[in-house]
Amino acid sequence: MSDRSPAADTRGRLPALTTPLFLPVFEPENPYVSLQEMQEDFGVGAIMVNAYFLYRRKDLRRSLPDRGVKDYLGFGGLVVTDSGAFQAFRSRLYLRNRSIVRFQEDIGADIVSPLDVMTPPWDNVKTAEGKLGVTMQRIEEGLSITRRATLIGVQQGGRFMELRRRAAEGLAQLGVSYAALGSLVPFFTRNHHLGFVGEVMAEARGILAAEVPIHLYGAGDPVELPFYVALGCDVFDSSSFLHYARNGSYMTPYGAVAEGEALDEAAFTCPCPYCRERGSRQVRRDAALLCRHNLWTVLATVDTIRTHVEEGTLPGYLDEVLRVHQAWFPASMLGPSWRGAGAEE
Ligand SMILES: [Zn+2]
Repeated sequence: MSDRSPAADTRGRLPALTTPLFLPVFEPENPYVSLQEMQEDFGVGAIMVNAYFLYRRKDLRRSLPDRGVKDYLGFGGLVVTDSGAFQAFRSRLYLRNRSIVRFQEDIGADIVSPLDVMTPPWDNVKTAEGKLGVTMQRIEEGLSITRRATLIGVQQGGRFMELRRRAAEGLAQLGVSYAALGSLVPFFTRNHHLGFVGEVMAEARGILAAEVPIHLYGAGDPVELPFYVALGCDVFDSSSFLHYARNGSYMTPYGAVAEGEALDEAAFTCPCPYCRERGSRQVRRDAALLCRHNLWTVLATVDTIRTHVEEGTLPGYLDEVLRVHQAWFPASMLGPSWRGAGAEE
């Protein structure tokens, strides 16, 4: 990947994206569905790859800049890479922002991440502000390094709206052409509560230019995605389809049904090829089929959302999702928190 065009001509030129877009996370250890099957059976044209997992292998660190990540993976579509920020959060890594950004650029990834500093909900305002400052410096440094790839401007700010707002304004000032919302996973995994994440999204959407896609890291539950799209998010990545399958959870557009829980077949019959051929009972008993069903469901839901956005019918779809979801899961906070957030819309 040695062809370096002049920075001024190419930097920040974003590849064309059809949004909303879901990027399955490439997991080399996924025993149920290979990358080749994702492309051939599911039509996946864009994936998320953790560049740090490649970088930490010395052989790949040396060979991939010449070979290119797409050749290595056997994937010709859009490759978005992650920097190892999450791994750095969990354990101390001897990893520099400059090195991991350059590596992502050199291996031919299309959209690349800085080594942002994750800010969990328990960080106090001083800590969160410090991490935000470091993250913004690293984004600026990343923008100066990238030539061909698009660098993601990652918003941090922890649980503080004031810091989140400042981060989004900073990204707009830096002129990033692609943005992501960092450290929100712990908030949206709490019983589908949309309150804080909804506020963060709606505000970021209002600050960033309309043509700047907003990526929500780690979102992959089909019942939540249409609400995130309504709040202004465009791109999602997750390996939830695999993790849910490992736990025996059967995804539907109305919420995931846990292992052993009854599926309300009067309200929902899955149209995926696996359930059509074998029936949902058999699919739920087989982790490989369940993983495929789950991936199919996430991708089909994103297609449905895209159609509703294009036709201007998203609000009606949200009502339908909430009606079924709240009947199945009466204790869910999705409906109450959406109505709270939606009141100002
Ligand atoms: Zn199915």
